[in-house]
Amino acid sequence: MAILLTGGAGYIGSHTAVAFLDAGVDVVLADNFDNASPKVLDRIEAITGKKPKCVRADMCDKQAVEKIFAENEITGVVHFAGYKAVGESCRKPLKYYRNNLDSALTVLEVMKKHGCTRFVFSSSATVYGDQPAPLTESTHTGDCSNPYGWTKYMIEQILKTACDADPDLSVVLLRYFNPIGAHPSGMIGDNPNGIPNNLMPYVTQVAVGKLPRLNIFGDDYDTPDGTGVRDYIHVCDLADGHLAAIRYAENHVGCEVFNLGTGVGYSVLDIVKTFSRVNNLDLPYAIAPRRPGDLATVYADPKKAETVLGWTAKRTLDDMCRDSWNWPKQNPNGYEE
Ligand code: UDP
Repeated sequence: MAILLTGGAGYIGSHTAVAFLDAGVDVVLADNFDNASPKVLDRIEAITGKKPKCVRADMCDKQAVEKIFAENEITGVVHFAGYKAVGESCRKPLKYYRNNLDSALTVLEVMKKHGCTRFVFSSSATVYGDQPAPLTESTHTGDCSNPYGWTKYMIEQILKTACDADPDLSVVLLRYFNPIGAHPSGMIGDNPNGIPNNLMPYVTQVAVGKLPRLNIFGDDYDTPDGTGVRDYIHVCDLADGHLAAIRYAENHVGCEVFNLGTGVGYSVLDIVKTFSRVNNLDLPYAIAPRRPGDLATVYADPKKAETVLGWTAKRTLDDMCRDSWNWPKQNPNGYEE
């Protein structure tokens, strides 16, 4: 019996694989390695002492997904697989709709055929659009500002209606806030292609010396120091949230949604200062114009996950900044030697 982690070799998938294996839950990873390295498997084994089973497969390929279900006893799915670059989604919306919707639908159809009824979905706080923080699970959704966000919103709708029609189906939608950090071993971490768009991978590339300075996108927001405020969450806390979610799905039917955040907002300057202090280095930065589409303040109300799942984020901002640096410090070229 195993849980299928689609996109299991990616940033959040690999940390979730470690959390599941450490908890004694067997996993099968499936990944097309479009945006992940097969080397992550040896690293997961080095951390956990267990070699995870992994299948190279695209989740849009129905035959390949069928084969995974035929050859393994899959009792639940955590669906990470999907394209995730906001900027690229604006340039290539059809690519995002085709891939993200198709892969989710394919996995759901094959699950149904094989009598597998538990599905945990990687959603995102981006489904809330521009709503005032703190965001609760009942805050209005659906004013997404990019196709990536719309794919998350649309898949949420697909899953809700699938549950309405199938009394056996159990779906947990997890709306992530801003995952950063890495496993404290420094052996796995975020490994984006090209110049990063997200704050922390950009910060670490500046710290490594690959980029000259961080550009802070705006210091005139209506926030305590004028820079944007987000709910950063340690990726290992996020991984633990998936364990709580799949356990919840084992004992419930229907569709439930949970925010995975800390409930605390930090500014870009908070990140710069904390990162510099805990890692004892200078991080060059400059104030730049606002980035189009950015919001001033986004943070979660995480109470529902605490009450219903018994999960809370435990790691501090110091932990997040230290572990974020530990990974590129040991692996300046990611998974490449
Ligand atoms: N940010 C920044 N410089 C960068 C990347 C991001 O100042 O090079 C800011 C961005 O404006 C936002 C915060 O950092 O306030 C988090 O941005 P990220 O892209 O990581 O997440 P998102 O905007 O999707 O929440």
